[in-house]
Amino acid sequence: MSYDPRRTPAWKRMRRECYERDKARNAVCVHCGQPIDYSVKPSSTDSSYEPDHRLVVERHPELALLPENVQPSHRRCNRARGKKAGMNNLGRRTRNWSKGEGC
Ligand SMILES: [Zn+2]
Repeated sequence: MSYDPRRTPAWKRMRRECYERDKARNAVCVHCGQPIDYSVKPSSTDSSYEPDHRLVVERHPELALLPENVQPSHRRCNRARGKKAGMNNLGRRTRNWSKGEGC
C-alpha cells in the first residue's frame, strides 16, 4: 500500500464536488436508503455525508478521482462497512459490488 489517491488535493476537491452534486439532488444513502443530513459538514456526524467509492480504490486506483465512481452515503454506513471488511477506513469490500450495477 503506497499510493493512496485519497491523500491528494485532487481528491479533496473531488470530494467537495460530489458533496455539492449529491446535495443538489438531495441524494439518499446508497447503503440504507435514508436521507442524508446535508446541513452539516461532510463526515462531521454519523448521519452526515461521506463519499463512498462504488469500485474500491485499492483495486481501481484509476477510478478514485472519478465523480462517477463516488456515491452518497452516511458516515456511519460507510464506516460500518469499512470496519466489517477489516480495513481501517480504506473501503475494502468483501465482494465485488461492481457486478450488476449500472455504469
Ligand atoms: Zn446510510
